[in-house]
Amino acid sequence: MRSFDFRRAVDRTEALSMASAQQARYIGGGTNLVDLMRQNIETPAALVDVSRLPATSETMADGGLVIGAAVRNSVVAAHPVVRSHYPMLSRALLAGASAQIRNMATVGGNIMQRTRCSYFYDAAGSSCNKRDPGAGCDAIGGFNRYHAILGTSEHCIATHPSDMCVALAALDATVHLLGPDGERRVLLIDFHQLPGDTPHIETVLRERELITAIELTPSVAAKNSAYRKVRDRSSYAFALVSVAAGMEVVDGKIKDVRIALGGVAAKPWRCVQAEQALHGQAPTRERFLAAAAAELTAAKTFDGNAFKTELVKRTIAAVLGELTGAEA
Ligand code: SF4
Repeated sequence: MRSFDFRRAVDRTEALSMASAQQARYIGGGTNLVDLMRQNIETPAALVDVSRLPATSETMADGGLVIGAAVRNSVVAAHPVVRSHYPMLSRALLAGASAQIRNMATVGGNIMQRTRCSYFYDAAGSSCNKRDPGAGCDAIGGFNRYHAILGTSEHCIATHPSDMCVALAALDATVHLLGPDGERRVLLIDFHQLPGDTPHIETVLRERELITAIELTPSVAAKNSAYRKVRDRSSYAFALVSVAAGMEVVDGKIKDVRIALGGVAAKPWRCVQAEQALHGQAPTRERFLAAAAAELTAAKTFDGNAFKTELVKRTIAAVLGELTGAEA
């Protein structure tokens, strides 16, 4: 690990000021960034510790919730409003990592975590366009069981590792940002970027911008929601496929449905086509499977991950069945 400057900010203004140093990075719990620095994949000249910024949440009268970026993942998972109004978020957080890591990891850091593609971490022996633009991608012809099937490019097929962000995508969460030019807000589904020909650019975050909070808006579908993660072992593993979904059914017809996928793309994947296929329909397993198939028409699989298309269909049908009582 290379030497770096370390400063601890007490408020957002101080954090922005401290981040003016060249190649500065914000650090929350450090559960991903420190690993990347140990491997010399990230080599910031300075770290600005934002983990001690006020870790507060604000609940609105209608059940809306603004959660500070420094709030720990374990605290969000146990928050009574999250559990009652946004259960998919609580379940997604509890499916992520270990209890010890959830106690350290912050909301902002979770959003900013980077892919766990093993070639990305193998700086000494593997080619990786994300780590070294133009170098090539060893995952495409290599071990790609955990890699993406949607939104890939010839330059990168990595997945985004977060469980929390999959739920936030389905919940239409908004990310609050503060930068040198002031505040702005971005939908979570627009925050992360697909690889295209610039896989090293992963988010729309501007220079020195700091994530300050996420905002959740209540709905019947958010309240009637669930998260399911399919993985190679029962704990402390990243998703092969995960599904966050919520649904409102009125008079036997689907009035509102939100579905997002994890483990299949470089960003949490919102299933717009599947949702459109389900609106106004009766909630049956056959329709769930057909909607999932519609979402996957653009899927591109590789030698090691072709199983994911069927796994996506079955997991979507299972989660929507859990929400509606449709036979699994
Ligand atoms: Fe690098 Fe992306 Fe290829 Fe993994 S999939 S080796 S992160 S370019």
